[in-house]
Amino acid sequence: MNDMTNPLLDFSGLPRFASVRAEHIEPAADRLIAEGRATIERLASQDAVPTWESFVEPLDDANERLARMWTQASHLNNVVNTPELRDAYNAALPKVTQYFSEQGQDQRLHAGFKALRAAKDFDSWPRARRRHVDNELRDFRLGGAELPPPQKERFREIQEELARLGAKFSENVLDATNAYALYITDASELSGLPEDVRQAAKEAAAKDGREGWKLTLHMPCYLPVMQYADSPSLRERMYRANVTRASAESLDGKAEWNNDPHVVRILELRAEAAKLLGYPTFADRSLATKMAATPAEALAFLDDLARRARPFAQRDMVELRQFAKQELGMAEVFAWDVSYASEKLRQKRYAFSEQEVKEYFTEDEVLAGMFRVVKAIYGLDVKAAQAELYRDDARFFEITDSSGQRVGQFYMDLYAREGKRGGAWMDDAINRRRLGKRVQTPVAFLTCNFPAPVNGRPALFTHRDVSTLFHEFGHGLHQLLTQVDELGVSGINGVEWDAVELPSQFMENFCWEWEVVAPMTKQVDTGARIPRELFDKMLAAKNFQSGMGFVRQLEFALFDMRLHAQAGAQTPQSVLALLDEVRAQVAVFEVPAFNRFPNQFSHIFAGGYAAGYYSYKWAEVLSSDAYGAFEESGVLNPETGARFRREVLACGGSRPALESFVAFRGRKPQIDALLRHNGMTATA
Ligand code: ZN
Repeated sequence: MNDMTNPLLDFSGLPRFASVRAEHIEPAADRLIAEGRATIERLASQDAVPTWESFVEPLDDANERLARMWTQASHLNNVVNTPELRDAYNAALPKVTQYFSEQGQDQRLHAGFKALRAAKDFDSWPRARRRHVDNELRDFRLGGAELPPPQKERFREIQEELARLGAKFSENVLDATNAYALYITDASELSGLPEDVRQAAKEAAAKDGREGWKLTLHMPCYLPVMQYADSPSLRERMYRANVTRASAESLDGKAEWNNDPHVVRILELRAEAAKLLGYPTFADRSLATKMAATPAEALAFLDDLARRARPFAQRDMVELRQFAKQELGMAEVFAWDVSYASEKLRQKRYAFSEQEVKEYFTEDEVLAGMFRVVKAIYGLDVKAAQAELYRDDARFFEITDSSGQRVGQFYMDLYAREGKRGGAWMDDAINRRRLGKRVQTPVAFLTCNFPAPVNGRPALFTHRDVSTLFHEFGHGLHQLLTQVDELGVSGINGVEWDAVELPSQFMENFCWEWEVVAPMTKQVDTGARIPRELFDKMLAAKNFQSGMGFVRQLEFALFDMRLHAQAGAQTPQSVLALLDEVRAQVAVFEVPAFNRFPNQFSHIFAGGYAAGYYSYKWAEVLSSDAYGAFEESGVLNPETGARFRREVLACGGSRPALESFVAFRGRKPQIDALLRHNGMTATA
C-alpha cells in the first residue's frame, strides 16, 4: 500500500470514510509519526532564531496531519467498532501517545518556544499567537521541563507512581463493585422493585446457577433498589455495601481492595510534585490551567453557593421528612431512605408519563427546531450536505452565513447500536486555520446514543435526549463558529478546562423555553404540538429537590478543593474528619459513621478532577449567567446572539475565558441566574 491508496493520508478535503479500512490505520500512523519526527529534527537543527513561520507553522502542519488522521481512526473505533478496527486502533495508540508525549519533554522544542517568547516584537503579535506560545510554555513548565536534573528525575518518578496508584484506586473500586452479590430467595423482600429489574436479577442468579434473584452494586440494579424497594432492611444492606466499597469497613470486600493507603499516598505525591514546580499546594498547581485563579477564589465561590443554596436544601429535607412520616409511616428518614421516599414524593407531586412526552419529540422536528434557534440568534443556516459516510444512518450538515459562505460542517450520528461507545460527545474532525490566503473551515463529529427509529416510525426522543442533543450541539458550535486563525487556540483548543462546558450547558436552556419547544414537537400519530399543561408539569418536575442536589455537589466540590489546598501529611482519619467538617457546613441529612465515600471518589483519586470538581458548578454559573442575558433581551434576540457569538464562541482559546465572558456580559459572572434557574430564589 502506498500513500496514494491510503485514504487516511489524503488531507485534500473531508474524511474519505467510504474507503477507510482497519488496515489503513497503522501504516498511516507510522508514516505521519515518522514525518513529524523528521520535522522536529529539522526544526531542532535550525541555526536561525525561530519565528512563527519557521517554527510553529511547520510543527503545527505535522501535528495536524497526524491529529486529523487519528481523529478519524478514533471516531470509527468509537462508533462502528469491529475486532479488526479495535486491533488496528490499539496497535497504533501507544505510538501516537508516545509521539505527542515526547514533544512535551523535548528540550529543543521548549527552547524554540522560549526564543519566540523573547522576540523583540512579541507584544505586537496577534493575540492568538501570543496565547498559543504562552500556553505551550506553561505546559512545558507544568510537565517539569524547567526543573534541574535531579528534581526532574524525581518529578518523573512521582508522575509514574501517581499513574499507577490512580489505576489501582479505580481497579479496587471496580473489583469491590463487581464482587458484591446479594442473593434473595424470598420474593416478598423484592416488593416495590420494577418488573424489568427483577427479571434482570433473576437472570443474573440463574447465570450463577442459583435460585431466586441476584442483586448487585451495578447502577442498573443498585439505583432502582434504593429508589423502589419497599424493604428498609434491604435498602440498608445495599447502601452499606455500596458506601463501604474499597474500605476497611466493608463486610464483604477483600483487605487488599482497601483504598486508604492509596488515598494518603496520592495526596502526599501530589503535594510533593506541586512543591517541585513552586506551588504551595496541589490545588494551586491544578488551577494553573483553569479559569479560577486561586484555591481561595474557588473556595469563596463554593462557600457563597453553599450559603445561598442550603436553606432550599433544608426546605427540601423538611418536606421529605413530613411526607415520609404522614404518607409512608416512616418515623425517621435514614440515608438509605432518601431516594426511596423522594421517588414516592416525586410521583405524587409531578407524575407524568415519560412515554407520553417522548411521542411529541420526533427526530426531524427536534433537529429543525434546534437549527431554528441557530438561525434566530446567529443568523446562520444549517442544511443537509454531501459527504462520504461510514454508515447510511449517519448524517452530514453544513452551516452557512447570510451570504451563503460556508462557516463549518458536521457529522451527526444519533442512534445507539452494537459496536458504538455509550454516551454523547463532540469531537473535532478538522480545526479552523488560516493557511496563507485560504481559511480551512472547521468540521465536527456529534455523536449520541438515542433509540433508533422502529417499525417505520421516526426516532422518538425523551426530553433528556433533546437536552443532550442541544448540549453536544453547543460544544459543536464552539468548535464551528470560531474565528481564530491559529490551530492551537481555535475552536475548543486552549480553552480553560473549567470554561469548556459554558457553550454546551448554555444551549440546554433553550429546551426549557415554550417558544422554542412548542414548535419543535409533533405527536408521532396525531401531529399535534405538545400541550402547554404537560410542558408545565415537566418544568415543575425539573426543579424537584434541586436544593438537595445542589448541596450534594457542593459537598464533593468543597471536600475536593479543601483536601488539595491544605499542607501537611494526611491520614485516613484526617481525610474523614475533613469530610465531616464539610458535611457539617452543607449536608442536610446525617450520614452513618461507616460511610467511606472518599475510598470510592474516583473522580478525584483516579480521574482528572482533582482540585477540579468545583468546575461542574463553576461552568453552570457561567452558562446560566450567559443565558440570563438572553432572558433579559428576549431569548431569541439576534443582537444578544451576535454578541455571544463574537465575544465567546468566535474567540475560542485565543484569550482567557473570563475576558470573553466579561466582554459579552459587561461584568464578571454572578451566581443569581443559576439559583433562579434551579428555582432557588427568595420568593420561590
Ligand atoms: Zn459537555
